[in-house]
Amino acid sequence: MLYQSTRSNHTVNSLEAILQGIAPDGGLYLPVDLASLKVLPRDLADKSFEEMAAIILRTLFDEFTEAEMAEMVRRAYGGKFETEDVTPTVKVGQDYVLELFRGPTSAFKDVALSMLPVLITEAKKKLGITEKIMILTATSGDTGKAALEGFHDVDGTGIIVFYPNGGVSAVQKAQMVTQEGNNVTVCAIDGNFDDAQTGVKNTFAACADLDLKQHGVMLSSANSINIGRLAPQIVYYYKSYCDLVAAGEIAMGDAVNFVVPTGNFGDILAGYFAKCLGLPIGKLVCASNQNDVLTEFLNTGRYDRRRVFHRTNSPSMDILVSSNLERMLYLASGGDFEKIAGYMKALNEIGEYTVDDALLKELKDTFFAGCCSEAQTLATIGKTYETYGYLCDTHTAVAVDVADQFKNTTPAGAVIILSTASPYKFPVAVLTALGHTPDEDEFKVMEQLQDLTNVPIPDGLAGLKEKAVLHTDVIPKDGILDYVLKKVKA
Ligand SMILES: *Cc1c(COP(=O)(O)O)cnc(C)c1O
Repeated sequence: MLYQSTRSNHTVNSLEAILQGIAPDGGLYLPVDLASLKVLPRDLADKSFEEMAAIILRTLFDEFTEAEMAEMVRRAYGGKFETEDVTPTVKVGQDYVLELFRGPTSAFKDVALSMLPVLITEAKKKLGITEKIMILTATSGDTGKAALEGFHDVDGTGIIVFYPNGGVSAVQKAQMVTQEGNNVTVCAIDGNFDDAQTGVKNTFAACADLDLKQHGVMLSSANSINIGRLAPQIVYYYKSYCDLVAAGEIAMGDAVNFVVPTGNFGDILAGYFAKCLGLPIGKLVCASNQNDVLTEFLNTGRYDRRRVFHRTNSPSMDILVSSNLERMLYLASGGDFEKIAGYMKALNEIGEYTVDDALLKELKDTFFAGCCSEAQTLATIGKTYETYGYLCDTHTAVAVDVADQFKNTTPAGAVIILSTASPYKFPVAVLTALGHTPDEDEFKVMEQLQDLTNVPIPDGLAGLKEKAVLHTDVIPKDGILDYVLKKVKA
């Protein structure tokens, strides 16, 4: 299957798209034939998560055979998640919560980052590439650990993770800096997530002109700019839908709404892919925290990144430049790559762009957008626990609050809220929300929270405190390219 850049008519096959991560022109890859691909939920009913994943992923990456994909999916997910069905959906009040945090690092990114290393390794084999694949990753907290977990000690790969110094929770930081493995590097940058992401993107651009092959290395990405990272996220939209049909909560064919706590626009874009492939979706609800750049954009058509960056209690959504929006604009404009390249140039050089009315209408038909303050986030955690006995993390709480805003607009159909992290990744905020005073030591706070709620601390987080810190590098935000080149040449 052919994939095309969002910024030109440059095309590659799906294997090359997965390996490259980002197109040489700075654009993002999308399947040329997305509109003609179909995966119907009635054909997936009664199938397991792994069977669904194999069917959906082979639809997008048809260079792999059915048997190959089935084996790859088993290798990626087998026995790694707390629950056998990988992403369970539970009923909370009138709505449903799709729990995406049951993986090894307790964040939804495990779903995609369990699969990506397998896709990269197998794509590399099929293309006969012998260079080492060096994965560069910018993280707002969760991608870093999930990518390290997926790639550590994977033959023929290396991984470097950049995270914002002071911009992640103590638990998130401990997860990353204690990572073992002979091919892993973790480095803090003095800057925020956008700085890290920009630095990584610039490094890709700069390295496209350098001949890294002479060092036996090829760069790739574990961020959702990589289509191999995005595609596995489509699966749980189908899984949740089929679970609700099986439970008799909805009928096959009913439209449902998904509420997605959004940062880089990857998760919600996977929902849009599901809709394009044929899943009956009413609205995709884009939930933002105080960094409300997407709320403004989806309501007005004007994207303006020139605003104060807020560090909030839902740090994985502290983002002002949402990379995957570029893919959405490309699709909503019918593939007008010149227009998209123009918007992205304006965003880069001036800091803003405004889409035309036709494009805005298309976006408004697809999305509802809302945002939620830090105080409201805490209030929502408290209220959800008090009313339903359900403990959610800060990111999920943002979505729960925006789901309420959405329901006030008289929507039709069930509302499914994506829960993207375990409450134990953000224990200080969660315990505070429940009206208790957190200890100074974030690890003790996890125990306080467990004593109070009887919700068990996930295995992967329980032993963190005792682990040795292995990574201590801190660099200026413009030092990413140099740092990478030093590692590549080492
Ligand atoms: C990454 C992340 C998000 C945002 O997902 P995007 O795909 O970047 O929009 C939301 N919540 C949590 C906990 C995350 O780790």
